[in-house]
Amino acid sequence: MKRCTKCGLPETYETIEFTESGVCNMCVQHIYKAEVIDWDKRKLTFDKIIQDNRGKYEYDCIVPFSGGKDSTFTLYYLMKEYGLKPLVVQFNHGFMRPTLLKNNERTFKKLGVDVITFTPNWNIVKRVMLEALIRKGDFCWHCHTGIFSYPMHIALKYNTPLVLWGEPSTEYTAYYDYRDNEIEVVDESRFNRYINLGITAEDMRGMVKNESEELDPRDFAPYTYPNLRDLKKLRYQSVCLGSFIPWDTKAQSKLIMDELGWEGDEVEGMPPKIYDYEKIECHMQGVRDYIKYLKRGYSRVTQMTVLDIRNERMVKDEADKLITKYEGKKPPSLKVFLEYLGMDEQEFNNIVKKTVVPPFEPDFSKDDWSPKTWDFDNLYREKN
Ligand SMILES: [Zn+2]
Repeated sequence: MKRCTKCGLPETYETIEFTESGVCNMCVQHIYKAEVIDWDKRKLTFDKIIQDNRGKYEYDCIVPFSGGKDSTFTLYYLMKEYGLKPLVVQFNHGFMRPTLLKNNERTFKKLGVDVITFTPNWNIVKRVMLEALIRKGDFCWHCHTGIFSYPMHIALKYNTPLVLWGEPSTEYTAYYDYRDNEIEVVDESRFNRYINLGITAEDMRGMVKNESEELDPRDFAPYTYPNLRDLKKLRYQSVCLGSFIPWDTKAQSKLIMDELGWEGDEVEGMPPKIYDYEKIECHMQGVRDYIKYLKRGYSRVTQMTVLDIRNERMVKDEADKLITKYEGKKPPSLKVFLEYLGMDEQEFNNIVKKTVVPPFEPDFSKDDWSPKTWDFDNLYREKN
């Protein structure tokens, strides 16, 4: 596979393009982010947004919150820098891990915030995961659509127009580009562009139902983006903190560890310790990363090391060693995941095979497993 000459990202990476010298657009954007954007000016823009909302509504803002490093930092920053009164909104995807729950409780108590947690119907979640896997090779549809639409419903219910997200998508992909020098808006067009995989909640309801069955549309409401007219009437504003201050996940993770006692965790298929702050919020992260490996020939180790290479914290050789050692192993949670979906590994492989991104060709015969994480036995099982 063709790879970026600087960071090593492969040509199967979403939205990647290469310059003539073989450097990828994410690397080019990174230089732009560091050298061209006027961050002082952006911060003043953000100050003004806060000023316009403070004390005027039921809450100063809504903060969608996964409990990962980015949303935790966002909440911390908003409280420390501005002393806001936010409403924290959590969408429970069904796979929250013990360390995450402990971190959340500590964060909420230390910062003194109001919190709403919503958990959707598990029986629908299972069917939707299966459908999204079959159609797109991506079982996370319920989580991604829920995380991005549910807080918007809460914004309407609580008459709170400002919704503040964490990292901008420009950190990882080029659907939006730092070079456009525009503020990324987290709205319905962004939702349709790459969050919902081109499947609306209404479509999904039709896809998962059996012939003789009617499914309650209310079960799909959490995955539906609210009516645009209602949002406009609210004068909603939905933006990422990372569009206004330069985002640095590593430094920010250290900060929340020091200031809030936020704890990292091991993640299936990842080198221990060095990236213990990344994607620790979901029991199924290992399965997601493994599917990505089968489809595109890389997974999270690559994604993390490219960030370190770009920030000149790691040399390419060291990254290559980590990638060779950790990437492409089967996560123990795969067995549990297949239990949820009621299929065996052969059926799973056949589904994933149809979504492979050429020129990558996966090798399904490898039977290398990564070790179980300490909390593996906490996973909910369908069968006792
Ligand atoms: Zn690159």
